[in-house]
Amino acid sequence: MGNDSYSEAMLGDGPRSRVVIVGAGHGGANAAAFLRQKGFGGEVILIGEEPVMPYQRPPLSKAYIADHMSVEDLYLKPTQFYRDQGIELRLGTRVAEVNPEGKFVSFSDGTTLEYDVLILATGAAPRSLDVPGSDLTGIQELRTIADAGRLRDLIPSSGHLVVVGGGYIGLEVAAVCQTNGVRVTVIEREDRLLARVASVELSKVLTAYHQERGTNILTSDSVVGFAGGADGAVRSVILSDGTEIACGGVLTGIGAVPCDALACGAGLHCDNGIVVDEQSRTSDRWIFAIGDVTRRPLPNRTDLFRMESIPSAVEQAGQAVAAIMGGPQPKPEVPWFWSDQFNLKLKMAGLVHEGEEVIARNSLEGFKIAFFHVRGENVVAVETINSPGEFMAGKRFIEKNARVDLTKLADSSVPLQGVLV
Ligand code: NAP
Repeated sequence: MGNDSYSEAMLGDGPRSRVVIVGAGHGGANAAAFLRQKGFGGEVILIGEEPVMPYQRPPLSKAYIADHMSVEDLYLKPTQFYRDQGIELRLGTRVAEVNPEGKFVSFSDGTTLEYDVLILATGAAPRSLDVPGSDLTGIQELRTIADAGRLRDLIPSSGHLVVVGGGYIGLEVAAVCQTNGVRVTVIEREDRLLARVASVELSKVLTAYHQERGTNILTSDSVVGFAGGADGAVRSVILSDGTEIACGGVLTGIGAVPCDALACGAGLHCDNGIVVDEQSRTSDRWIFAIGDVTRRPLPNRTDLFRMESIPSAVEQAGQAVAAIMGGPQPKPEVPWFWSDQFNLKLKMAGLVHEGEEVIARNSLEGFKIAFFHVRGENVVAVETINSPGEFMAGKRFIEKNARVDLTKLADSSVPLQGVLV
């Protein structure tokens, strides 16, 4: 790579070369680990705003709020790992500014930290619901372990929890509530649940499943305010048609916004997230960005995407580290994610909105079902419930751009390897 090589440039500084990672979530922590895996011998400094060891977020809306996991169970790696790997953790530390010209970050106390390469992995924050009464107590959002701790306390005491937003956060928390005997109402402003991320077919199945277990689901409805009691705690949710729903607690799960203020302030190209290339490089060659904060390209697509998923963050951590080390780029991954609700294991791959036709395989009996979204003879996305084989096959079909026989695909008696044309 000649003079363009990051590794040459960094090795030029000898063992003192330094990668600073801002954000200690899935993306940041994996980037630190990958640097060591790939033999980076310089300094690795991982900065996290929360005063907690890097931890897994998925259980926060499931096992953790159901009280089935401790904080330590959530840790991505044991404390010893960072010591053994020579990864310096600076937790409870907020970066105030990035200075790309001087190649340093500064903190609110005025101190600075120089970098050779910077990785921004600052994630996303819950979109806030700005309506009258939203400052009442008992209204909770969910992103951090601290949020989850408050929600875990709120759920049993609420008697009736209202969930604003019928996305994955809302549905996963609703499932925990129902399982634990807490009444729950989900309010979604779109005309169906999971409109942003799932197909109409999957929405229907999940809506029915939740309703049959007692969840009250209101779609095409929006919240215009909250009313509270004399103690300052929420007592009811007010809908746009004037209906008032009494409750003892509220969870808002109405989407996430990228935490790109540091990057925008530093003059990096941002457009609803930090814009990165296929190696997770920003508009500054010494700064990479990974995870929920980015808008990233996908293979064979011209648009940029905010993927908001752990597999995407980990993939980008691999891309950034490969670019920094001058090694080969990892094989591109088909976008995928998962969710657990009640005893349903959902796994999705590809981009559902690109499908023209839906082929259902398996059946709703036993709650094993797969929806293959096809365009012509190609599978472009697959959504599965309790069907790991169909998920793996669908993901492979997408990856290989394989042609499939649609009639055979719809027939669950035909083995999946037999549906290829
Ligand atoms: P989400 O998936 O974007 O869903 C939020 C839903 O709330 C959207 O359908 C949105 O509709 C709706 N909404 C927005 N404003 C509303 C309002 N005022 N009243 C009622 N509904 C409203 O976001 P999320 O569930 O909050 O999740 C946040 C982040 O966590 C996302 O990045 C998500 O991917 C991630 N997460 C993922 C998982 C998983 O993959 N299993 C689990 C938990 C969290 P509009 O589209 O019209 O705005």
